Parts: sequence; structure tokens; C-alpha cells
Amino acid sequence: MAENPIPDGPMQWHSDYIPYLDSLQGREDAFFFTRDDDQNRQKTWFEPKNLMTDECILARECSSHKKKMLQRAVRMYCIKDMREFKVDDSNKSIWRLVCKRKTQGCRWLLRGIVKPDGLWEITKFHPKHTCDMGQSRADHFNLDINMIAHVLLKHIEETPRMPIKTCISMVHSKYGKIISKRKGFLGHRHAFEMIFGTWESSFRALPGWDDVYGRYDIKLLIVVDMDANGSIFPLAFVITANESNETWGMFLTHLKTHVIKGRQGICVLSDSHKGILHNMRTLEGWQPPHVYHRYCLRHLKANLQKKFGNDT
Ligand SMILES: [Zn+2]
Repeated sequence: MAENPIPDGPMQWHSDYIPYLDSLQGREDAFFFTRDDDQNRQKTWFEPKNLMTDECILARECSSHKKKMLQRAVRMYCIKDMREFKVDDSNKSIWRLVCKRKTQGCRWLLRGIVKPDGLWEITKFHPKHTCDMGQSRADHFNLDINMIAHVLLKHIEETPRMPIKTCISMVHSKYGKIISKRKGFLGHRHAFEMIFGTWESSFRALPGWDDVYGRYDIKLLIVVDMDANGSIFPLAFVITANESNETWGMFLTHLKTHVIKGRQGICVLSDSHKGILHNMRTLEGWQPPHVYHRYCLRHLKANLQKKFGNDT
């Protein structure tokens, strides 16, 4: 029997067979209770819409298809319970938690293990805290970056540059906790990377954009550099409608703000497109001693041959 019995009441889902889990409407993230008494029962755990007012029960024999779903449910439960845990052991087959204030003699304990059928199940749970939380904190130790990103995901997809202040208030209305600006920033960044990928992965995907050349009437403006091994790597790029004074001006302005920053003595090698020439003459901070402009010899040769023919 579960130590924290499931209250009697209508079940959202009922089966005489356990496990009978394939019928959970393809919800891979489903989290459910099972109980063996005179009748086998299970109850699907749907994430509380409002953590402050909705039911959030955790018991032994709770199962989940995925470890991360179990972790999420436990974190939500503990946030609602206003108690904090720390991870005692975590690997492919076990997730064991103790009270964060175990040193006070608190025996709160939870253990989830993966069963032979692949389900993560809570096999041990001492739900009573005897510790003293002290002054209640606005934030919660177990409200981690993943939990924060989960709230922000949908909004950041629509508004990638959502202010951190807004992120913090969204987290507050979901979990009732006021997180620090730093946590807000990290949660925002995590959500952003989940949607758009990291800068590194974007650069890795860059060769796939070779198709842009010729096939479409748009341009790829790109700045590359050379590392200590003599290998070329991309520094920044932008896709524009055309190659002009305006687009090169916009790109170079961003390049200066985000990549060059305050550095001096930068050498730029270019194919001397008139958009580049124009901006390097006129844009502020693109002349010596900040930036020195040289022509790429390969492009110079190619341009000469194009203009005067191969005999040149
Ligand atoms: Zn405790």
C-alpha cells in the first residue's frame, strides 16, 4: 500500500490490467499512480495548471515512462510542499533524494528506480519532514533551469527577446516563486537554445546553407577567421535580400558591436565589394587604428581575370 494513499474519488483513467499503459493516448510524458489492492487501479497525473490551488499528490508506486518526467513531478510536489531536497544518487537506474536539511536529522527520503519493464517507479518514500525550513524563501532550491525553461518555452518561441523581468513574473505565476535575475537569465537562455539551438550548432549547420548560393535571390554575408591550426571557422553571418551598402552597413555595425567590440588593430580581408568599401570608409570605427582593410588576392586575381580575360 502506498504510504501516502491516493484519495478516493473519480479516477481520470481506470483499468483492470496493470500495466496497461500503451493506451495513455500516446502521452509519453504521462505519470501515473498504480495500486494493488482488491482491484488494480491507476490514475494519470496531469500537470497541475495552477500549482497553488490544484492537487499535486506523490506516492509510492507512482510510475513514469521517463526519468525526467518523474523528476519534474517530484520537483513540483516539493515546490508546493515548500520543502527542498538534494540528490543523493543519480544514474541510469536510480534517482535517490534526501531532505536538503538532512543534517538536522530529517528523514525525508524518496527513491525512484527503473523497473525491468522500463518504467521509473517510486519505490521508497518517507514524506514527513521534521526539519526546520527557517525563514521561508521567495525562491526554491529545486526550481531549476529546466523547470524555468519549461514555463518560458512557448512564449520565447513567439518573443525570443522577452525581457528577463517578464520571464521572472511568468515563473512566479506558474510556481508561486520569485527567482533571481540570474536564474531568469539562465532559464531564458536554456529555453532559447531548446527552440533555436545553440550558436555552436547554428555554425555547424552553416555548410548546409551553401545552397543559398545561386539557387535563391538572397545573399549570405559571412565573416570567417583562421584558428591556430590554420583552419577556417565562421565568426558571424547574416542572410540578406541583397548585397548593398545598406546590408553590408547593417552587418558590419552588428559585427562591431557583438564581435569586435572595443578591439583595435583588426585586419579585414575582403573581396572589395563596393558595399564593403563604402562602409569601411564611412562607418565610424572601421578605419585605422581600429580596423585595417586589405584586399583578398584570390578575389583580386579572379576579378581581374573576369574583367580582362584569362590572358591577363
Ligand atoms: Zn526535511
